[in-house]
Amino acid sequence: MSNLNVEALVRPELAGFEPYDPAFTPCDINLSANENTHELPPSVRAALDEALLRTPLNRYPDPLANELRDELAAWHGVERGNIMVGNGGDEVLFNLLFSFGGSGRTLVVTPPCFEEYKNFAKMCSTDVVEVWRDAKDFSINADALVAAAAQAHIVMLTSPNNPTGDLVDPALVRRLLAETNALVLVDEAYIEFADAGASLIPWIAEQPRLMVLRTLSKAFALAGLRCGYLVADPAIVDVLAAIRQIYSEDVLAQAAAVAAVRAREELVPVVADIVAEREVLASALRELQGVKLWPSSANFLLVRMPHAAQVRARLRDEHSVLVRDFSYAKGLSDCLRITVGTHEENQRLLSALGAILE
Ligand code: PMP
Repeated sequence: MSNLNVEALVRPELAGFEPYDPAFTPCDINLSANENTHELPPSVRAALDEALLRTPLNRYPDPLANELRDELAAWHGVERGNIMVGNGGDEVLFNLLFSFGGSGRTLVVTPPCFEEYKNFAKMCSTDVVEVWRDAKDFSINADALVAAAAQAHIVMLTSPNNPTGDLVDPALVRRLLAETNALVLVDEAYIEFADAGASLIPWIAEQPRLMVLRTLSKAFALAGLRCGYLVADPAIVDVLAAIRQIYSEDVLAQAAAVAAVRAREELVPVVADIVAEREVLASALRELQGVKLWPSSANFLLVRMPHAAQVRARLRDEHSVLVRDFSYAKGLSDCLRITVGTHEENQRLLSALGAILE
């Protein structure tokens, strides 16, 4: 142990933070982190490998990743100036709070939701107001959210929400933009698993305070690559461009991301399979004694069952199947979050769960 009194040295608002713990234990089947567990189509994998192999490592990256921005812009029907990429969506979220939060500013969130919004806000000395979702169906109280947002500077919504799986009501986003002056982020990390037309990116051109976050970590099966991006008004993008860690998106990530985005049509059947599997898994889970679950538009399901923490431990220790424990989290007592895996993985999970719950 060091004798250094680091508490006296570290910025007070950063004291007490701990390294992120993904609660990972090596298991045969990992359905705990909302990754895409399917094999990439061989043609896509080959395109990525080829892009990685031909990328020299001796030169610095393009700081703004303009080739990637152009590829993403063409896909989404926007301009390069509407896109900022980051080392995962996480970096973009942090940079948003670093830029638009800060002392005397307020972020509004709607928990249960992605915890990092609040953590990054605190790291950036930003006040956080929580508008808790309905305890039973996780719906958002629109009037309460609009009232909180009217006093705030940024609102972060998630569509589909992690861990509850529901989409944001576009009418609510419209109200927030019309009735408040806040910046509104819609985090669409999981949107590819929702019905077509659910994304709010088409609104960006008309709504300068609306921002949409996307990532290659989920549908694109590239969580290890670290590439996320914001679609927003060019003035917001310019701010993020100026404050970002200049080389956070490395040459390999940029090259592979360009290849993946170009190959996006080939990933459509993979996403369709996950969506189909989600419904198969949901129906099977609903049949299990004592299990409640909520409808999901994402690549995971939130389930509630008696003794969830013990069930999760037994899945891990006796069946080598890892799912995420939320049973300790406020508003999520006895809840587990299960990533939708391949058909085989889902069947293994179901038979293990069936054996435990018997
Ligand atoms: N938003 C949400 C809702 C998420 O669940 C995640 C990943 N867990 C992210 C953003 C960030 O993903 P990444 O940094 O891998 O792009």
